[in-house]
Amino acid sequence: MSQRPLREVVRNGSVAPRGLSVLGSTGSIGTQTLDVVRLFPDRLRVKALTSNTRADLLIRQALEFRPECVVIQDPAGYPIVAEGLRGTGIRVLQGREGLLEAATLPGVETVVAAVVGFAGLEPVLAAIQAGKQIALANKETLVVAGSLVYDLLRRENGVLIPIDSEHSAIFQCLVGEPPESIEKLILTASGGPFRTRPLDTFGDITKAEALCHPNWSMGAKITIDSATMMNKGLEVIEAHWMFGLDADRLEVLVHPQSIIHSMVTFRDGSTKAQLGCPDMKVPIQYALSYPERWAAPHERVDWTRVGQLDFEPPDLVKFPCLRLAFEALRIGGTAPAVLNAANEQAVALFLDDQITFLDIPRLIEEAMEALAAPVQPLLETLVEADQEARRFVMEHSRATAD
Ligand code: NAD
Ligand code: MG
Repeated sequence: MSQRPLREVVRNGSVAPRGLSVLGSTGSIGTQTLDVVRLFPDRLRVKALTSNTRADLLIRQALEFRPECVVIQDPAGYPIVAEGLRGTGIRVLQGREGLLEAATLPGVETVVAAVVGFAGLEPVLAAIQAGKQIALANKETLVVAGSLVYDLLRRENGVLIPIDSEHSAIFQCLVGEPPESIEKLILTASGGPFRTRPLDTFGDITKAEALCHPNWSMGAKITIDSATMMNKGLEVIEAHWMFGLDADRLEVLVHPQSIIHSMVTFRDGSTKAQLGCPDMKVPIQYALSYPERWAAPHERVDWTRVGQLDFEPPDLVKFPCLRLAFEALRIGGTAPAVLNAANEQAVALFLDDQITFLDIPRLIEEAMEALAAPVQPLLETLVEADQEARRFVMEHSRATAD
């Protein structure tokens, strides 16, 4: 992992605000990133904002933060954004090219990667190549292409800081610790909304129930991932690449209160943990301030009210997605890309009321059995595996519905 301090941005002899490109600025992580920027107007300056479809919110964000450019993916949204920003001097871009331009914009030091899904991978690769530091929320990037991303980071002498709360916690526990002193990483998991629900009722789970997370308010896709515990599986694969440990040194521990965000056990038997309220603004801010800590009014834990902290092992029978993610990590090659794409497609179908909650792990497992291969994961191979897995899930979900 990279623990070098972020390069200071010095212009005319004084430290200038860090230029940010916020990819996925209209999402849960994107809007919370802008909340952090609002707290530190002298330290952070937004240069680019991007959205998939939310033209209205993108316009409001642009009028407030005055970036150099904004990107809207949705062709129907382009004329709305162009009209809304007419006369402001803010460039309005669209499509894949626009997203890549925002990821590589001159004057940007840090790219906040907060697009959801496989779509977030290409701009991260482009940003690293352009010498940008990455503040990474998009977990699908490392799940699909962890080896490519870390090869590139090494070649470009790049810096990637995690935003995901578990990885931020581990990153914080590791500051000042030599890598060889780590025995294992313990990723905590809330267990999601169905931790205590009997398995024989999982067939009746509704979309509304799955979208209701007990501790965190997040985008729809990651909220479903938390309900299936695929989210924790994706995080295990992400942690493997970020911290360089094999699957047998990555442990998942269910901790329903979400106060301990993750832990590291060292070879002398000592364990360090990072704790705090479940608020993504804290790890987002740390990814932007590292190695400094900036004073901020985020909620503090009231220890007298926490009561007790509970722990239990994850239930791999109720949550097969977590087992499948460990399997994908052990197989390597295209397996994590197949797992990820099959999951993205299955979650989209579930959110569209096309399949049931139990179909999600079933379709992923079938896709992995049919398509996962321990081959050298080149980018073209991974893109192909992603597309094949999506097709597979579409075909097999239709077979179920018929
Ligand atoms: P979200 O759905 O709320 O927002 C996603 C953002 O990406 C939006 O701005 C959307 O416009 C944009 N987007 C969506 N599809 C796109 C596409 N095809 N091309 C370009 N832009 C696109 O998602 P989120 O909850 O903010 O999560 C973002 C990423 O961060 C995910 O990978 C998620 O797993 C990860 N993450 C989120 C949280 C959280 O608390 N929300 C925590 C840890 C990690
Ligand atoms: Mg997380």
